[in-house]
Amino acid sequence: MLVLVQERAEEKLIRLANTDMLTGIPNRQHFFNSLPKVLGTGDAFVLIDIDFFKRVNDMYGHDKGDVVLINVARTIARSAPSSCVLGRLGGEEFSLFFRGQTAASAFALAEQIREAVHALSLVFEGNQVTPSVSAGVALWQAGLTEQDVQKRADQALYIAKNKGRNRLSCSVASG
Ligand code: GH3
Ligand code: MG
Ligand code: MG
Repeated sequence: MLVLVQERAEEKLIRLANTDMLTGIPNRQHFFNSLPKVLGTGDAFVLIDIDFFKRVNDMYGHDKGDVVLINVARTIARSAPSSCVLGRLGGEEFSLFFRGQTAASAFALAEQIREAVHALSLVFEGNQVTPSVSAGVALWQAGLTEQDVQKRADQALYIAKNKGRNRLSCSVASG
C-alpha cells in the first residue's frame, strides 16, 4: 500500500517536472529529453512563434496574454499528431518534432496547426482577438546535428516573420 502511494507521488512529481505550469503542455526540458538520441531521414522540427504577442500584453494586460498562450498551446497540442514530440520552449515559442516526414508532409502538418490557431477567436474588453502563429519547418539531412536542424527551423521562422507572419517557411534543402 505504502509502495503504491509512493509510486503515485513519484509519478505526480515527474509529471509536474515535465509540464509547463501555465499551459499544461510539456515543457522545454521534457521536449529536449524526449528527442531521439540519433536523428535520421524523415525527422522534422517545426518551430512555432505567436505573432505580435507583446501587443496583447500591452493592450489587455499580462493575464489576457496568458489566456492567449493557454489557448494557442492547447490548440497546437490538439492539432498535432499524438506521435509527435511537443513542448513550450519558453515565452510564446513552441516546438514540434516528427518522424517519417517529407518536406511536404511536415509542411502540411504545420499548416494544419497554423490554420487551427487562426480559427481561434477570443474577446477581450469587447474586442475580438484572433491569434496567429508563424512557423519554421526543417528536415534532418545527412551530416546535420540536432542543433543544425533546429537552427534551420529558427532561420525558416525568421523568414516567415519577415514575409508578413501568419505563415510557414520551410528550410531549403542544401548541402
Ligand atoms: P513577433 O511577431 O515578432 O514574434 O512579435 P512578438 O510581440 O510576438 O514578440 P516579442 O519577442 O516582441 O514579444 C514576446 C512577448 O512575450 C514579450 C514577453 O513579455 C511576452 N511573454 C513571454 N512569456 C510570457 C508569459 O508567460 N505570459 C505573458 N502574458 N507574456 C509572456
Ligand atoms: Mg518569440
Ligand atoms: Mg512572437
